[in-house]
Amino acid sequence: STNPRKIGENQYQIDADSNLGMKVPVRIYADESLMQKMLSDRTIMQARNVASIPGIVGHSVVLPDGHEGYGFPVGGVAAMDAEEGMISPGGVGYDINCGVRLLRSNLTEDMVRSKLKELVTDLFSSIPSGVGSKGAVKLTHSELDEVLVKGVNWAIDHGYGSSDDADVCEENGQIQNADPNKVSDKARKRGAPQLGSLGSGNHFLEVQKVAEIHDEEAAKRMGIEEGTITTLIHCGSRGFGHQVCSDYLRVSEQAMEKYDINLPDRELACVPNNSEEGESYRKAMFSALNFAWSNRQMLTHWTRNSFQRVFNQSESDLDMKLVYDVAHNIAKVEKHKVDGQDRKLVVHRKGATRAFPANRDEIPSRYRDLGQPVLVPGSMGTASWILLGQPNSMDLSFGSTAHGAGRTMSRSKARRNFTENDVKKSLNDKGIFIKALTRDGVVEETPQAYKDVDSVVNVSHNLGIATKVAKLVPIGVIKG
Ligand code: 5GP
Ligand code: MN
Ligand code: MN
Repeated sequence: STNPRKIGENQYQIDADSNLGMKVPVRIYADESLMQKMLSDRTIMQARNVASIPGIVGHSVVLPDGHEGYGFPVGGVAAMDAEEGMISPGGVGYDINCGVRLLRSNLTEDMVRSKLKELVTDLFSSIPSGVGSKGAVKLTHSELDEVLVKGVNWAIDHGYGSSDDADVCEENGQIQNADPNKVSDKARKRGAPQLGSLGSGNHFLEVQKVAEIHDEEAAKRMGIEEGTITTLIHCGSRGFGHQVCSDYLRVSEQAMEKYDINLPDRELACVPNNSEEGESYRKAMFSALNFAWSNRQMLTHWTRNSFQRVFNQSESDLDMKLVYDVAHNIAKVEKHKVDGQDRKLVVHRKGATRAFPANRDEIPSRYRDLGQPVLVPGSMGTASWILLGQPNSMDLSFGSTAHGAGRTMSRSKARRNFTENDVKKSLNDKGIFIKALTRDGVVEETPQAYKDVDSVVNVSHNLGIATKVAKLVPIGVIKG
């Protein structure tokens, strides 16, 4: 049957059906209500299509925040054999290295509430946002090349933060083997003016308070204390990554015939990972990863400056350290055990967060014996979570968990059902102050447009994929 079959608490499977071209089963991690939601759109069908891509290993994974996307579901993981498997731009998504980072502070809620409007207004005016927003820097061709190779370290070398920040980014904020020569002029033209900008819609900067601690030891190691203020920044590689994705979707579509690849959906366009086209996409995609790390680093610097201005304290007084930075649209080669064998896999995480358990080499030394911090945003009116990667993630989801609550209502439906005043009033009633560039931005991002983040996190926690460390609730939000 093509219907998901419950195989355990919070676990569903669709067995591989060779008549449908499926090479592996689909595995879905969800509670009953999240499962029902996934069945109401194309999420599950898309995950089945992904299971038919040559070289896919283990199972096609849908995480509890899963919803339909371009070809591949958002909230999905597809792991391909690095030698025989494919690499696919649609398996990473348009916003390459969209991700989130969390800054802590030692400010308390009272201190911040008394200056909340001033703080949010200062952040809003110092951080460029909006659809075509331009960043604060003008880059020449060779400067952009440097960004694309050096990632977060480009920003740090130019005065935006310190090397402590790089230490707690996935890949230390600079992935090796990016090659700007594989990036089109069009991507450069779109990207160069946008470095250092938030973007629009779903991208945000949020001032939060730590509402609950669920894992004392892990929270302590991350410097997270109940009642203190954190800042969550969500953005990616702007028009740059978008253009890289478009460019290589076209390259992949055109090369498929040559490699004799047949797929149930054109949007799954892919090429062999070790082909010339695969190499080129990887090097361009890695350039976009580095662009995004540099971008988030610049926003981090301006955030710290805003806090210093408004609270008239120094950065070290405020202790605004970066806790962690995760990429949730990415593909890279990792070592995984599959049926007892060590294998090299191209792990595509699209709307999925790496959630490695303790002792993986990839985890920053500061957290290696603990496990990887994971950041799961919810919505501007509900909670967001800090989780900790756990061993079961390696068996269940190629070391990955959810990247958010996941959208449940289309933007157009949100616009039909809510007004700007509705949304602002309900946020205000919860003590949340928002500054947004556009009315549509507010309405489309209404908390009701997203699934219940607590349910999503419970699935991850109960399965031992990534477990709860702390719950964060918003008090101030800026939206592009
Ligand atoms: P995506 O990367 O898929 O656009 O978004 C990731 C997740 O961010 C969404 O699934 C949603 O749960 C969450 N999210 C969207 N807007 C906000 C916001 O303003 N604040 C917080 N904390 N989370 C948000
Ligand atoms: Mn994102
Ligand atoms: Mn994004």
